[in-house]
Amino acid sequence: MKIAVFSTKPYDREYLDKFNRDNKHELIYFEAPLNIDTTNLAIGFEGVCIFVNDKIDKKTIDKLSEIGIKLIDLRCAGFNNVDIGAAAKQKIKVMRVPAYSPQAVAEHAVALILTLNRKTHKAYNRVRESNFSLENLTGFNLYGKTVGVIGTGKIGTAFCQIMLGFGCKVIAYDVKESEKLIAKGVEYQTLDEIFKNSDVLSLHCPLNVNTKHLFDRTAFSKIKKGAMLINTSRGALIKTSHAIEALKNEQLGYLGIDVYEQEENLFFKDLSESIIQDDLIERLMAFHNVLITPHQGFFTNEALDQIALTTLKNFTDFENELPLVNEVKL
Ligand code: NAD
Repeated sequence: MKIAVFSTKPYDREYLDKFNRDNKHELIYFEAPLNIDTTNLAIGFEGVCIFVNDKIDKKTIDKLSEIGIKLIDLRCAGFNNVDIGAAAKQKIKVMRVPAYSPQAVAEHAVALILTLNRKTHKAYNRVRESNFSLENLTGFNLYGKTVGVIGTGKIGTAFCQIMLGFGCKVIAYDVKESEKLIAKGVEYQTLDEIFKNSDVLSLHCPLNVNTKHLFDRTAFSKIKKGAMLINTSRGALIKTSHAIEALKNEQLGYLGIDVYEQEENLFFKDLSESIIQDDLIERLMAFHNVLITPHQGFFTNEALDQIALTTLKNFTDFENELPLVNEVKL
């Protein structure tokens, strides 16, 4: 099958080529993201393969349909950047990689917590300059603290298990409760109780109409003063300007984010020689208690192997008219 692969980085190519050794699929790589301005690159292809920040809105879908695209395959789990309704109308199939390594993202969320808490990033820089002082490196024990998890699907479950291992009290909110987690000692509470009771909050729900700006001014006013908020899910779960307010008035004690609402203009690019025009991220970066990573939660060897394998299997299933187990439906 002939596929145009968008938003390609060297590692995408490396891992897809590794499992497409027999050249079963003809993969043509484009560095450009797929959006309304770049659809012409997909002329002559049967399908497109995209990533988290390609913007596949209705206009883009209609254009893709005009040029004969039959498949949009996401090499990620989240699909909030694709207008699924518009794709269904144009009879374009949408597929994704629903699970590749939930542990990869869960472990990254834990890395954010530990770094923010124990300030290892600051100690690393200090010691390199022969500064061995402990001033301002005080952290807190995670043992015995209450960790609130919003979304207990695959990643949230892996995260809960790690935090139980740390000896934390784990409380959770999800629209669907997990018996398996309850049996392990996780307690489901209402969202307001989660806000009120958590020392650390971690977001693992998808971005959709119900969860957009879940953390806005009202939510921040309900959290425990000085709590830590971790977001490895999708940027728009947090209203950034309200998070800045909450950091300034010290209601929010720490913020660790691997995703950012306006990340498509920034993430996955080296902008070290550019003038950043996004004042919100610049303000966030100025806080000593904010840690930002560039959407790298998924970025482990194991996850990249699995993403490539499932992506190629999706192409094969589509080509051979097999059941599309990874199809995203309305
Ligand atoms: P999943 O579908 O297994 O779990 C999502 C959970 O959220 C489900 O249990 C669902 O019931 C719950 N949920 C849905 N609506 C909710 C709501 N309104 N409030 C609370 N819970 C709600 O998904 P997953 O594989 O665990 O992934 C979770 C998210 O992580 C994805 O949607 C994606 O955005 C993000 N993600 C990030 C990275 C990264 O690199 N940082 C990588 C993969 C996935």
